Amino acid sequence: MAIPKSPADSVQDVLRDPEIQRLIDSPEHQGLELSPSRQIYTNRALQMDQIGVVGFDMDYTLAVYSMRQIEELAFHMTLDRLVARRGYRDELRNLKYDHEYVIRGLVVDKDYGNIFKMDRHNHVGRCYHGRRQLSLDERRALYQTNEKIRLSLPRFAWIDTLFSLPEACLYAEIIEAQEARGERVDYHKVYDDTRESIDEVHRDGSLKSELRKDLGRFIKPDPELPSALHKLRSGGKKLFVLTNSLWDYTDAVMSFVLDGRLPEYPSWRNYFDYVVVGAQKPAFFAEHRPFIELNPNGSVDRTEVDSLERGKIYEGGNLFDFERMSGFAGDRVLYVGDHIYGDIIRNRKASQWRTCFIVQELEREIEYIEEHAEDVLRLNELDAMRARLDDMINHHKLLLNAMDRRIERGGPLASDLEARRQREKQDLEKLRRAFKATLAEGAELEARFETGANAYWGLVFKEGNENSRFGEQVEDYADLYTSRVANFLYYSPMQMFRSPRATMPHERTTLRRG
Ligand code: IMP
Ligand code: MG
Repeated sequence: MAIPKSPADSVQDVLRDPEIQRLIDSPEHQGLELSPSRQIYTNRALQMDQIGVVGFDMDYTLAVYSMRQIEELAFHMTLDRLVARRGYRDELRNLKYDHEYVIRGLVVDKDYGNIFKMDRHNHVGRCYHGRRQLSLDERRALYQTNEKIRLSLPRFAWIDTLFSLPEACLYAEIIEAQEARGERVDYHKVYDDTRESIDEVHRDGSLKSELRKDLGRFIKPDPELPSALHKLRSGGKKLFVLTNSLWDYTDAVMSFVLDGRLPEYPSWRNYFDYVVVGAQKPAFFAEHRPFIELNPNGSVDRTEVDSLERGKIYEGGNLFDFERMSGFAGDRVLYVGDHIYGDIIRNRKASQWRTCFIVQELEREIEYIEEHAEDVLRLNELDAMRARLDDMINHHKLLLNAMDRRIERGGPLASDLEARRQREKQDLEKLRRAFKATLAEGAELEARFETGANAYWGLVFKEGNENSRFGEQVEDYADLYTSRVANFLYYSPMQMFRSPRATMPHERTTLRRG
């Protein structure tokens, strides 16, 4: 009697089937892979067919600002406020915004007037005071104490959104300028004045009124965004906007980005089932503010809302009522946003919503890594070589110690041993030289590789050979991350986003040896 095939056999047979192999290898399927800088990356598996509704943040998510332009404007407007209202010297108006000097994920230390970048272990990496980089010794003296750095302390401010880049740059520039004149600087006050001034510039509408004079200068509508949204809708998803911006600005920006781009959607509002403005995230995820219904002219229509209706505009609101009134709760909602705390971390802590994080810097960062793939390979090689040499050096040290002990004990073979000991010593020296050479080459290459990406801070997602704290937060809290919303165009609305098989350091070693 024939032994029945096990299911495993038949699975393997399928993959060995020459017809299937031919299909998999066919030229039709070559080049289907999307460029890495446009891919959607998965930290936690997500099945799009389980998602009923997709929500979007507006600023820096649906509306992509030209980073340098908007930051420079906010920088100068804030500086003007500091001079006009808070008694800062008039010459400070000449300060220049250096967009290279600030990246997302930096930390301001108000006790010392420093700005630093951390790795995933909360270890302080690169650090600047004003425009001066601190030496390793200075950094150690300030930050390598036994006390773990807790970013929740009021002493620290985390630069976690692109909106806060100008304040970090202002902080450094003002300290630099005041100390160059020999003035004593109150580091807390400079930060608080700057933060409050930039906050005013946002809240009183002055920044937005400048932006609205020439939206085309500040916002680059993504030509693929309309089709990406359409594709999600065609896949049966409801869409909504959930933004902290208020109605008149939201309407102006969204019209600029989406109106009239596709014949089926004359107005931006046709894409979305619900529009929620002035949402006050992160409070939206934690507090119980009511939804207020607005008229299209921005006036209040109803303050008591007990259902959400397609085409209506709402202000305020909260997570709990949204889930109840929209009929979609927990992991049936995907929220796409660019603020790691307000859109992603706070959301994750309060809800079961799935999240997609938009990081526009990712596109450039991936392209840079691709252009320097050889450097990355060499860095990995040097890393592996260093670990092997370290093991060899330890092995030879042990041998030498053992020989020393035997020679000390004396005996008939002592002179023979002495010759072998000399050879061992020479080998050990050679290995040590090789070790130092890998260290030196690695340090030189890493510095060149990183400063090529950003002269002051290196890569956004890395700090040395560790993930940066920012990179780690993205990995921990965002289910998906990608450089722009339009990248959804290249995926099915039913896509199964799979995370790569996780590997621990011990598995990687085994794979390298194998
Ligand atoms: P969202 O990203 O669409 O949720 O909206 C961000 C909104 O927050 C925009 O209207 C910004 O002007 C506003 N915003 C950003 N930073 C600040 C701030 O420091 N204070 C007040 N509003 C801010
Ligand atoms: Mg945003």
